[in-house]
Amino acid sequence: MRVLKTVLLSLLTLAQFALGAEDYYKVLGLDRQASDKQIKSAYRQLSKKFHPDKNPNDPSAHDKFVLVSEAYEALSDAESRQIYDKYGHEGLKQRKQQGGGSHDPFDLFSRFFGGGGHYQPGQRRGHNVEVKVPISLRDFYNGRATEFQWNKQEICEKCDGTGAADRVVHTCPACNGRGVRTVRQQLAPGMVTQVQMQCDACGGRGKSIKHRCPACNGERVVRKATVVSLNIQRGMADGARVAYESEADASPDYVAGDLIVTVFEKEPGLEGEDNPDRVDGVFFRRRGDDLLWREVLSLREALMGDWTRNLTHLDGHIVHLGRKRGQVVQPGHVETVEGEGMPRWAEDGDSVYHKTEFGSLLVEYVVVLPDQMESGMEKELWQLFQKWRAKKGVDLHKDSGRPDKPVMQQQDEGHEEL
Ligand SMILES: [Zn+2]
Ligand SMILES: [Zn+2]
Repeated sequence: MRVLKTVLLSLLTLAQFALGAEDYYKVLGLDRQASDKQIKSAYRQLSKKFHPDKNPNDPSAHDKFVLVSEAYEALSDAESRQIYDKYGHEGLKQRKQQGGGSHDPFDLFSRFFGGGGHYQPGQRRGHNVEVKVPISLRDFYNGRATEFQWNKQEICEKCDGTGAADRVVHTCPACNGRGVRTVRQQLAPGMVTQVQMQCDACGGRGKSIKHRCPACNGERVVRKATVVSLNIQRGMADGARVAYESEADASPDYVAGDLIVTVFEKEPGLEGEDNPDRVDGVFFRRRGDDLLWREVLSLREALMGDWTRNLTHLDGHIVHLGRKRGQVVQPGHVETVEGEGMPRWAEDGDSVYHKTEFGSLLVEYVVVLPDQMESGMEKELWQLFQKWRAKKGVDLHKDSGRPDKPVMQQQDEGHEEL
């Protein structure tokens, strides 16, 4: 019964492939103009998503995994892609018959990510790699799909990670593949001991090659500048960490560790890439979900009101500040403008289910007094203040409620009375 079911299933799968062999571009979610980089990136994501080890309860994942591998193999090679674009699946079939050869999808996966192609508990794992990526405040505010580059160790493509120019690995003849050799050592005349030493012919690997691969010099791995795409979500925290599973240094000897990216806010650049719209916003300082801004007012503005300011925010929208005539602003006063801070980060971002909320913009007012006044103005102001001083009798010292004499002295007097 079980066998029959399996046979039926595979027949069904076969039928599916035979009938309308799926479009490889569609399988990878790309269009026909896709770049090599996009093809690679699509494979990277989908092969991990559908890896059977990750989907033990979904039998369809295996087929999808195989299909994704097929699509990648067909489109990642320039010649094969050309044939596919011109003649479709039929063309590729003919090419295979002529010796184009198809690869094991798990093989492909392991060549791509390093390791054995399977996720296995207890398998040796490489180190995680930490990368720091500077991001402008503008990108934290607006969100941005960006990318960064790092020097990644990859399995040498030229020799498929064998280290051999002919891609053939032999068992080391010196140690018979054991990686160690037993050496007789004479300690003293008549005293001989046997010592196990790492095989110097193969460096303990138990394998040897005839001719070193010229690309990696037999190292089996090469370091290459690798571009990784990074999605900055709106309101992401300064110092937020993004993990890329199994995308650290690759090696034929272990499963690649994780690439861990820390994004941090970089000093604002006033021109160029950081501020293409020349917004005031680059001068904002971020404090969690709030933004800080310093606004300078003249004495007249602080005292008399009747002023406006337009701040250009990080996405180019305008925030109005201002006071009507007669509205005083105290130096150092902090005004809270609600909803004009940073977007509050949410996993799903803006969608029908979730609307982005914003923190506050905190505006601190700095009042600047003139160093020197024009003498005419000074005279008039003086007279004006004199007039009102006399009329209202304002005495700041009296109003402050401070004692006239030093406080210590008063206590001394009290002592004498006792
Ligand atoms: Zn050896
Ligand atoms: Zn190589």
